[in-house]
Amino acid sequence: MKKKLGLLTLVICLMLVLISPASAQTGNSITVTGSVAKVNFPATIDFSLSVKSNTDITDIRLQYVVERISISKIISETYIDFNPAKTVDARWTWDMRRTGGLPPGAILEYWWMVRDASGGQLVTDRIKLKIDDTRFTWRSKTQGKVTIYWYQGDDAFSGRLMTATQDALARLTRDTGAELELPVRIYVYGNYEDLRGSMIFPQEWTGGVAFTTFGIIAIGIAPNNVDWGTGAIAHELSHLTIHQMTYNPYGGMPTWMDEGLAMNAEGDLDASFAILLVDAIAKKKLLTVRSIASPFSAYSDESRLAYAESYSIVRYLTDTYGADKMSELLRTFRQGSSYDDALLKVYGFDMDKLNSLWQDYLMKKAA
Ligand SMILES: [Zn+2]
Repeated sequence: MKKKLGLLTLVICLMLVLISPASAQTGNSITVTGSVAKVNFPATIDFSLSVKSNTDITDIRLQYVVERISISKIISETYIDFNPAKTVDARWTWDMRRTGGLPPGAILEYWWMVRDASGGQLVTDRIKLKIDDTRFTWRSKTQGKVTIYWYQGDDAFSGRLMTATQDALARLTRDTGAELELPVRIYVYGNYEDLRGSMIFPQEWTGGVAFTTFGIIAIGIAPNNVDWGTGAIAHELSHLTIHQMTYNPYGGMPTWMDEGLAMNAEGDLDASFAILLVDAIAKKKLLTVRSIASPFSAYSDESRLAYAESYSIVRYLTDTYGADKMSELLRTFRQGSSYDDALLKVYGFDMDKLNSLWQDYLMKKAA
């Protein structure tokens, strides 16, 4: 399913002309005469600056910060290549095809630093730049911390998706105590191709992507596929909420837990998954809890069973030990803990013991 992006033809340019008022320092003759950032979503951003001074301008740098959850604020700095002169038109292109892309709705802040031969220095004001996918005319609706953007389908369509997000958040709170900490923006593309066109390197994927550190979800839902869409949007929203809650620099959580919470946020287990689980129990072919702690790929039968089991393991933990313990487990992962240590601390057993307890519970239910 991997396909390198040859979709430049799909890319429509957005011109964002922003003249930045310069904050000059005393004794400084550097003047900004123009500053432009042009977003060619999703491939590039072209920055340009026109600047003049009484003496040769010798040093121009562009600095920028991308708004996202992170342990420390990372400022990127780029030295601009140009010939020293009294008047300079500086340009730099951020090529996302080399660095990886930004999701639709991402926001970055940038500013310029300029020096001349007489020691003058100027730092421009910071400018906020929103990375919009201007291929489409988006509408939006907000409820609580969730905003849905869509361009295909009517109000009833986006209304059903919004209801699904609120139901998913309610189920998450019921199971884990987790609540959305930061606002979330959900971009609903009208089909897969439109969604793929928003990405630099579309990966093997399942229809939606949660950009957890950005608080952004991009998902492809056709208006005639809304039943699938409500589940998919609930699933991705769960990933985003849980990742906001457990974000730490040390490590994550077992995949069965992340996916199991997301499957539970969708509602009852879909029949096609439930059958796999019943079949695996009957044939004694269940995958162990430990073996599905690492990521599983999206498409094989075995990975479908892994999703079904993840749902069941989380159900077992919340039904047997309650939401408070699950909440405590999430907080333990936030502090950065190995999978076994976290389970031992909260429940008093590791993943192997969990495996046997959960399988006993399944056998009793099946009997
Ligand atoms: Zn998932």
